[in-house]
Amino acid sequence: MKNIAVIGAGTMGNGIAHVFAQSGYQVILIDVSEEALQLALSTIEKNMNRMVAKEKITEADKTEALSRLSTSTDMPASVSNVDIIVEAATENVDLKKKIFRDMDTYAPANCILATNTSSISITQIAAETGRADKVIGMHFMNPVPVMKLVEVIRGYATSNEVTETVMNLSKKLGKVPTEVNDYPGFVANRILMPMINEAIISLHEGVAGVEEIDTVMKLGMAHPMGPLQLADFIGLDVCLSILNVMYEGFGNPKYAPCPLLVNMVTAGKLGVKSGEGFYKHMRGSKELVVASSFKK
Ligand code: NAD
Repeated sequence: MKNIAVIGAGTMGNGIAHVFAQSGYQVILIDVSEEALQLALSTIEKNMNRMVAKEKITEADKTEALSRLSTSTDMPASVSNVDIIVEAATENVDLKKKIFRDMDTYAPANCILATNTSSISITQIAAETGRADKVIGMHFMNPVPVMKLVEVIRGYATSNEVTETVMNLSKKLGKVPTEVNDYPGFVANRILMPMINEAIISLHEGVAGVEEIDTVMKLGMAHPMGPLQLADFIGLDVCLSILNVMYEGFGNPKYAPCPLLVNMVTAGKLGVKSGEGFYKHMRGSKELVVASSFKK
């Protein structure tokens, strides 16, 4: 494993490219948007500068890592000699199926095709390709350079050899890979999302306010962040889409998204990315201010 491609240069893609480049791999970061690529490069440099300031890496490490990183909007040409592709494009099943068909066409026959999807079935995506044994989930957590976990998800046909390669690769990135099977929500979101949904239901039913719910979970359960703040951070649209995947996938009403969550997403209140969710989010400010709709 030497040459890596990352498809999608958003929140997750830039973090994934960052950790691969910092760990000595040659990385090509691909997106349909040149603007997204430029933003990703400046984010990676900013995050590496912070690591230099904290003495986690040296200035020379940073310069070398950045020199191993390139960008492209031309997917077919960019994947012709890579060993693994990690897809981290927008969470949309049809889009991912199309990207996997293209990757299967243009990447070398022995190239592993991994996806960072939060909830879409690996088996379903793999079925779009002629190499289902080489398709696997590589679910990094946000923010990627900081979070240790990689949930490694085996599709129905993923081979033992590919699973072992991806487990070892994750370790080389300084991560802790954990192998799980391909069922809706995998493990991380199957457990996290019902908790977030229950926090929203508690707010909706008037059991307690935003700050009170988050304080109970922070101070009572030693969570670093309350569930409503975490939902804002993940993106309320992402939470809704994962809950819907689990609701449909299991056919069990316990995963039905709270109507308040559905309303907020419909109204464009998506959390940090839109500037408002359960809290107001001002650029450059870490102060937690409850959104006006939830003020008492
Ligand atoms: P994002 O919206 O920040 O970025 C998605 C990027 O994909 C955008 O830059 C967009 O231009 C690009 N893109 C869209 N279509 C493309 C195509 N055809 N080819 C190449 N690039 C394309 O999204 P994100 O939050 O980084 O999420 C990416 C993936 O990671 C999703 O599958 C998501 O479920 C998963 N994920 C997200 C989080 C999170 O906390 N945000 C955590 C774990 C996993």
